[in-house]
Amino acid sequence: MSYVYDDQNIFARILRGEIPNKTVLETGHSLAFEDIAPQAPHHVLVIPKGRYVNYDHFALEATEAEIVDFTRTIGAVCKMLGVQPSRDGQGYRLISNCGAHGVQEVPHLHVHILGGRVLGRMLQPA
Ligand code: 5GP
Repeated sequence: MSYVYDDQNIFARILRGEIPNKTVLETGHSLAFEDIAPQAPHHVLVIPKGRYVNYDHFALEATEAEIVDFTRTIGAVCKMLGVQPSRDGQGYRLISNCGAHGVQEVPHLHVHILGGRVLGRMLQPA
């Protein structure tokens, strides 16, 4: 199984600084920034800096350092947004769309962090 990464995808261009973004947090291996079309009061995208197409690509082939950094960055952003139920927040949802059935728009791994309102049930009818 090989993964084909498109270096011209919009998040690759953001990582190269060719397109501006509203950065929430940047670490050695990850970048978190505001979604350009927010679906909730909080809508942050977290991406690895490495060339990973989707979550299974990352989970299978990323280094341990990248995986730890990405996971910790998601946690740090949840903390920054104040959405953690354990800290008096009201909760959030993580989404990572993959491929055609997942209706993935941008072919660079990203996790959506959504919060700030009740988000409804997990899936709507197709
Ligand atoms: P997907 O459907 O691939 O899971 O989500 C892609 C997300 O990227 C969408 O929520 C879309 O609004 C966001 N997006 C697309 N282009 C840009 C961009 O140029 N800048 C930012 N910040 N977000 C983008």
